[in-house]
Amino acid sequence: MCMRRYLPSIAAVILILSLSLLQILSSKYNQEQEVNPESNPLSRFRNYLRINTAHPTPDYAAAVNYLTAFAATIPTLQIRTLYLTTPDKPLLLVTWPGSNPTLPSVLFNSHLDSVPAEPSKWLHDPFAAHLSDDGKIYARGAQDDKCIGLQYLEAIKELKTKLDYTPLRTVHISYVPEEEVGGFDGMAKFVESKDFKELNVGFVLDEGQTSVNDEFRVFYADRSPWHLVIKATGVPGHGSRMYDNSAMENLMIIKAGLAANSEVISVNPVFLKAGIPSPTGFVMNMQPSEVEAGFDIRMPPMADPDLMRRIIAEEWAPAWRNLTYEITEKGPLRDYTGRPLMTATNESNPWWSVFRQAIEAAGGKLAKPEILPSTTDARFMRQLGLPTLGFSPMKNTPILLHDHNEFLPESVYLEGIKVYEHIIRSLSSFDGVPVSETSK
Ligand SMILES: [Zn+2]
Repeated sequence: MCMRRYLPSIAAVILILSLSLLQILSSKYNQEQEVNPESNPLSRFRNYLRINTAHPTPDYAAAVNYLTAFAATIPTLQIRTLYLTTPDKPLLLVTWPGSNPTLPSVLFNSHLDSVPAEPSKWLHDPFAAHLSDDGKIYARGAQDDKCIGLQYLEAIKELKTKLDYTPLRTVHISYVPEEEVGGFDGMAKFVESKDFKELNVGFVLDEGQTSVNDEFRVFYADRSPWHLVIKATGVPGHGSRMYDNSAMENLMIIKAGLAANSEVISVNPVFLKAGIPSPTGFVMNMQPSEVEAGFDIRMPPMADPDLMRRIIAEEWAPAWRNLTYEITEKGPLRDYTGRPLMTATNESNPWWSVFRQAIEAAGGKLAKPEILPSTTDARFMRQLGLPTLGFSPMKNTPILLHDHNEFLPESVYLEGIKVYEHIIRSLSSFDGVPVSETSK
């Protein structure tokens, strides 16, 4: 009799228990869906974006583990992790062996790290990979450059599992650390390594940038940064006097030099150190005897570095105006043979033709090849004389790299995978003999 009275409540308890068990199971299932690399290209992309590899504390290990887990699901791919500097800066190398391994290989590069993000300035958490109602994925790294890193693998997965395609040339994908902080502990070390030499690379595709119209952009060179600090000295004196050759006046002459320069070399003042501090700010009736200014200069590859150094020495910071200067050249402008760091985008470069045709075959249109306004790891490969193009298949998308609210539309991401299927297939089956290879 007692039992009968309790029965409904026992049933209720069982029902509640099984409901919560179901809930636990389904949330576990959802979690697995999220981290399970078997899910789908969009969820894989969003999961990769959720791994925080922003400086100053990039979680390289998590990114490498994630990519390794996915690459391992694609048959025949070989996966290696290299440590070229310290154990906290791994480099992941994925290889798809070609049927003729003696032919020079094709390398697809992307970097694991990203620049920091200020969450308070974003509409959505930059590391949550939020999907908006209109199909945009918001995340740091969505454009620069986690998209290409996974698109390479997705394209290979399609070619391998759906078409059972086998490349003629070996295809490598490198995931390098430290690009956003200059690449010195990443790609710079990699290209000097025995591991890199053994890859026998013939052609490289590295990151590019979005285009705001219907054409894909492609980059054949980077600009190389120079940091210039000019120090002016002059007579100190009372603020009311009009001296000739004061430190400030001597510094102003630089501006005349700036205007005379061609548009292709950019020179931006970045700091000015002058003035005599006082408890309330600066002493207003004293002309300083020392003034220092810093400039960020970007040199395109065709610029003549010797001429630039001469202009700085003779026109911008001449000793006779009490000016001294220091130039820090952050990268080379010439390859090891002395040629400008540019990749030919004409018929003299057979890889270019193959690349261009692959874009057309994918139904895409290429914009006129450009010089990238900033610097990427591509310069390290070009220094070795390797033809290297910067390309990220993103069009009709605002340029938001390093910006707040960086996003990539889902449709653009998915189309990029298709584009890489064409590119990887064309480049890896290219059986011509590029001129650079015959001269090796
Ligand atoms: Zn980048």
